[in-house]
Amino acid sequence: MGKVTERRRYRAGAVVLGDRAGTVFRDAVLDVDDGRIAWVGPAADAPPSDVPETQLPGLVSPGLVNAHAHSPMTLFRGIGEGLPLDRWLSEVMWPREGRLTADDVRAAMRLASAEMLRSGITTSVEMYMYADAVVDAVHESGARAVVMSPLLAAPGWEHMGSLDEQLDRATRHAERLRSDAYVEVGIGPHAAYTVPLDILCRAADLTREHGMLLHIHVAETQGEAAELEREHGVSVPRLLADNGILGGRVLAAHCVWMSDADLDLWAQYDVSVAHCPQSNAKLASGIAPLAGMLQRGIRVGLGTDGPASNNNLDLWEEIRLAAQLARLSALDAAALSATDAFWLAAEGSAAALGRSDIGVLETGRWADFCHIDTDDVAFIPVESDADLLTHLVWSAGSQHVRDTWVAGRQVVADGVCLTVDEPAARAEVRERAARLATG
Ligand SMILES: [Zn+2]
Repeated sequence: MGKVTERRRYRAGAVVLGDRAGTVFRDAVLDVDDGRIAWVGPAADAPPSDVPETQLPGLVSPGLVNAHAHSPMTLFRGIGEGLPLDRWLSEVMWPREGRLTADDVRAAMRLASAEMLRSGITTSVEMYMYADAVVDAVHESGARAVVMSPLLAAPGWEHMGSLDEQLDRATRHAERLRSDAYVEVGIGPHAAYTVPLDILCRAADLTREHGMLLHIHVAETQGEAAELEREHGVSVPRLLADNGILGGRVLAAHCVWMSDADLDLWAQYDVSVAHCPQSNAKLASGIAPLAGMLQRGIRVGLGTDGPASNNNLDLWEEIRLAAQLARLSALDAAALSATDAFWLAAEGSAAALGRSDIGVLETGRWADFCHIDTDDVAFIPVESDADLLTHLVWSAGSQHVRDTWVAGRQVVADGVCLTVDEPAARAEVRERAARLATG
């Protein structure tokens, strides 16, 4: 897959950088060179250029970063509706997942990748079986991803091999993709209550040794790890800390049932969080203590979780719900500003992944961005620059994303994914989902 090596200049109606300050420029220029951002700012200050301008009349924003997903679960959308997480996993998901093939995962990831690119998500963190197939599909779609090699011993997963074999596979996977520009690999043990401590320790050692991301579910539901916590007499975060599992690049998904002491540990060990408000709401898991995380300086990003527990891959919905839940929890309409809510899905998520090359429009970072149609009722009226960000969070959504670029390459044009034949991908997933449902 070729990078875009030529220079491009985009002239936008407005640009939202995605930084914490909520910087907005109207009548702005974005220069791209060799897949990276060469310059961004007000058109009046732009350096001279002999490159013809491409007009983007709406608003340009950074590509969003989905900090937690199991995107191939697009095969299982809507399944087990109404079940709590434990029964949903053991009775509905794991038996179906036991029948999955690598080709199923590749087809599902291809469709999910198109769905994300069309909604302006340019990077996702993927935790799913057949990681090689996930990587293949991401390469096909031209998206960016951090792909975890999963570790899980669950009923029906026997064909994935023992945990030792899964760990060996993770190591080989990491070696194969070490210098890939689009896909970074990590290790994704499902959770402390599903993966033994000695395996978690080895996974942590391995990720630290290679600078990889360790991604794990923590405290998603109340009581999920009660047995483990009784056995050791401490909370799961404490258990992870005491066993040397923290201290590298650790991204913990959910983190709903965290005490103040647990949050202090996260701050102490610089563990980052993938906040998944919609999945937590739909499965009635609880509301994560976002304010407590941000107050402690914990890095937090937003994730959709899998499309079987969400039920889509729309990060704009997470932005809005994160702000709504933060405000409801505090009974304070200023608890999470529109600026902060958007920042969480952009620079916040990138920082949660430990990535300083994506997430915000800034010189030197990858040119991952999208063009949002502002000629719509959702953007009327605009009295100040700040209104653009407010509208982006509260009245606009994925349906307003018209075009998307990854590393300077256009992958969505006027709402159509250029890299994936979506009608064919939909037909294939429909067919495979029907087979998996019947066994
Ligand atoms: Zn998850």
